[in-house]
Amino acid sequence: MISIIVPVYNNSGTLQELTDRITGTLRDKKYEIVYINDGSTDGSLIVLKDIARKYSQVRVINLSRNFGQHPAISAGFEHARGEKIILMDADLQDKPENIPLLLDNLKEDIDIVYTIRRDKRKKLFRDFTSNLFHYLISKQVRVDIPKNIGTFRLLNRRTLDALLQYREVNVLYGPLMYYIGFNCRYIEIERDEYPNQKSSYSFFKRFELGLNTIVTYTDLPYKVFFYAGFFILFFSMAYAVLIIAQYFFMGRLLPGGITIIIVILLFTLGSIIFSIGILGIYLFRIFQEVLRRPKYLIREIIEK
Ligand code: UDP
Ligand code: MG
Repeated sequence: MISIIVPVYNNSGTLQELTDRITGTLRDKKYEIVYINDGSTDGSLIVLKDIARKYSQVRVINLSRNFGQHPAISAGFEHARGEKIILMDADLQDKPENIPLLLDNLKEDIDIVYTIRRDKRKKLFRDFTSNLFHYLISKQVRVDIPKNIGTFRLLNRRTLDALLQYREVNVLYGPLMYYIGFNCRYIEIERDEYPNQKSSYSFFKRFELGLNTIVTYTDLPYKVFFYAGFFILFFSMAYAVLIIAQYFFMGRLLPGGITIIIVILLFTLGSIIFSIGILGIYLFRIFQEVLRRPKYLIREIIEK
């Protein structure tokens, strides 16, 4: 069986067409569609309930509020019953007609099939940040991750079971799927760009996602401050040695050191406070993980 997992956040306009196109494409296969309503406020739930009434293959998991894309994906993954699991967005940017292509690429020796989108539109700033991001993550997981990987992907049961072993609250499936290893393959697909489709990710949401990934998957913040602190310490000691040496060999040449002391004080104070901030991020993360909060809460599951 194939499970198609679709997180839904304010996608009422595309859900019916999406369902029609999926069912049209997979007509002769055994499949289920799991929609996760992530606290939509645009009536998506009403549309989903209607769809669930009409199609026996559809299950709707209605979360108690908006938890975010990744917790919603978690809910879908945990409720998938299939041997092959497809993840896709609800806004029709991923074409359901490409599902057979993904299925064809999942061979005995391949566990994950990723799609790479050929985007027509370019966004300079977003490209720069996402490239930087890819570089950082690629380095960390020691795999060359291609750019422009979409959410649209297929995994086998083995991979899904591995993913489900990661019980972290701040789960991010992008980097996690690389972190776990397994064999993957990439296929290039065309992505539909609907002119009036706005991303549900604001700049701030995207930024938070980036920060979250860096803190969770890289040791960059920690390293930067470790080395910066080390060099500041080293140079201030060397500087002290130099001042003492010149006092002994050349007498009192330098003016009263009050300014330099203030500068050094401020500099050290600044770096200490900043480091505490970095520690705070990790502490906060540990605190959250220790709480073992559920990633999402289900209000109801709707199926025929
Ligand atoms: N999504 C979600 N919860 C959120 C934000 C997004 O479940 O808080 C879902 C959304 O319904 C869509 C997918 O995540 O199916 C990707 O969202 P979107 O298309 O807005 O992002 P983009 O295309 O910009 O990556
Ligand atoms: Mg989208």
